[in-house]
Amino acid sequence: MSEPLENVLRALEMLKQEDRDNAEAYEMLEDLLEIQAAIEKAVQARIGGSRSRYLSALEKVYSSKEPLVSVAGFPQFPEEVWREIALSILAVLRRHRPSLERQVRRLEGFVENGSLKVSGLVASLLRGRSDDIRKLAEKLGLEPGLIEAVMLWSLQPVVRAVAGLVREHLKYELWGQGYCPVCGSHTRIGYVEGEGRKLYLKCQVCWTEWRFSRLRCPFCGNEDHEKMGFYTLGGDQRFRLYVCHACGNYWKVVDETIAGKKVPRSLYEYWTQHLDHLVNRVAARDEGSSAE
Ligand SMILES: [Zn+2]
Ligand SMILES: [Zn+2]
Repeated sequence: MSEPLENVLRALEMLKQEDRDNAEAYEMLEDLLEIQAAIEKAVQARIGGSRSRYLSALEKVYSSKEPLVSVAGFPQFPEEVWREIALSILAVLRRHRPSLERQVRRLEGFVENGSLKVSGLVASLLRGRSDDIRKLAEKLGLEPGLIEAVMLWSLQPVVRAVAGLVREHLKYELWGQGYCPVCGSHTRIGYVEGEGRKLYLKCQVCWTEWRFSRLRCPFCGNEDHEKMGFYTLGGDQRFRLYVCHACGNYWKVVDETIAGKKVPRSLYEYWTQHLDHLVNRVAARDEGSSAE
C-alpha cells in the first residue's frame, strides 16, 4: 500500500463522523481495506521474485502504450489462491450487508465448488469484458453487479502488489495516456498539486498515479474545450467535476492546494462522492437545454 493503512483508517473514521448517514458504508470500507492490505502483503511475498521481469518491461510500456500487466503478464496463481482471496472478500460483504446474505451465500457456494473460476473472471474484468461476467451471472441466477464488485475487490490488492514493485521506477512523464500504465484501467479520480497546479490521475484499481494534461479528456482524448465542462458544488473549490460532452464521461479532481492533504488519496473517490450526484444534475440540465 502506498499510504500507511493506519493513516487511511484514521481518515476514514473522520469521514464517517462527517457523514453519519453513510456510516455503514464507511465501516464496510474499513474492513475491506484492511483485508485487502493483508492480501496485498501476501501477494507481494509471492511475486517478489518477478520484480526484475516487471522492471525490464517498463521501456516497452512507454513505447507501446500498453499497460504493464499486458506487456509483462498478470501474476499467475493457482485457482485456490484466487478462491481464498474471493472468499475473504465475500466474508466482509456478508458481515456488512445482511440484506445480501442469500446472494452472497450462493456466490460463496459457486466459488467453493469451482463452478465460478475467480482467475478467469478477474482476467475478464481487467480486460474490460464485463459481458463475460453478465452472462455467467445470468446462468447462475446471481446479480451481475455483485459478482463484478467481488471480482474487482479481489483483483485490486493483486494489481496493487504489482504496482508496488515498480512504483519507485515508473517514469510517469513517458506515459501520457488517460488509462493506468500498470493495469490499464480508466479512472475518475485526479488531483492537482504544487505551484504549477499540475494534474495527476490516480488509478482506482491499483492506486498508481501519473501526470496528465489538464485540458484533455482522459477517456476519449477530446481537447475541444467547447465540449468540456467543469463544475463545483456550492462554490466549494476543493473538488471539481469535469464532464466531457464528446464521450459523456466524467472525472473528479481534488485541488490539494486548497483541500490540503489530510485525506489520503486512496480515499478521494469516497471523499468526492457528492460529485457523482452532481453528474446526474448536470446531465439532466444539459438534456433540458438541448430539448429547448
Ligand atoms: Zn491501475
Ligand atoms: Zn471524452
